[in-house]
Amino acid sequence: MEEKIPGLIRHSWGKCMQCGTISEIEEYHGLDLTRNPEGKEKLLKGEFFQWSCPKCGMGMKMDTAWPCWYLDPEAKLGISLVPGIDSSEAEGELQIMNQNLEGLVQPDIKRRAAGNFYAMQEIVRAHDAGLDDRVVQLVKPLIIGQLQSQGEVVWNGFFQGVSTPDPEEEPVHAVLYASLDPDGIPAYGQPIYWYDIHLTDRKVVHSGVNEVLFQMCQQMLEQSGAQPDDGRFHLYDLNWAIRFHDRMQQR
Ligand SMILES: [Zn+2]
Repeated sequence: MEEKIPGLIRHSWGKCMQCGTISEIEEYHGLDLTRNPEGKEKLLKGEFFQWSCPKCGMGMKMDTAWPCWYLDPEAKLGISLVPGIDSSEAEGELQIMNQNLEGLVQPDIKRRAAGNFYAMQEIVRAHDAGLDDRVVQLVKPLIIGQLQSQGEVVWNGFFQGVSTPDPEEEPVHAVLYASLDPDGIPAYGQPIYWYDIHLTDRKVVHSGVNEVLFQMCQQMLEQSGAQPDDGRFHLYDLNWAIRFHDRMQQR
């Protein structure tokens, strides 16, 4: 029997909310790198899910999401995008995904659920950087809390990558620095873990934390008795991280 492969790219129509222009949208459904080797680059560039109206253009850039999956067999990483799974209404969705996976669980494959394409990008970036994506999540409430204290209204934030600045350079204003020695000056030549923080007015703030803060989150995870991956789907996002911090504070 011929294998039924769902179309990797599907075309649909989108209507601009501002001017009403209808235009075609290319939806990438299967980002399976064995069949679509450019899938990773496409995902990380993000152009296909940031749709802008061909007529009124810049003013109406919006993010779209549709159910889709990403599979990198070499990296042993699989991500399933279920729009809205990160909202409280979608509780139970993850359970169903894992029930469907029953009997197909491969413990050496890291499986994740994501609620939007930014989250999918983030999981790939964290994996590429060799980081535990749970730690990557635990950093977020620290950065977002700081921005909120400055009066910003935050929708979400997503990990972008790690860079090591020149120690001679001035500390970057947008980065949270901590020092191991409470009275000491943080070492500025350490790696910075960068995030794009999306405000509700669609502005994006680039912010990050230094190595000490990242390691603090890593230790917090280890002390919580967190289990290694088991090949089942897990959803680690901002809400998960906030709940984790709350639990740790109640101890
Ligand atoms: Zn338009």
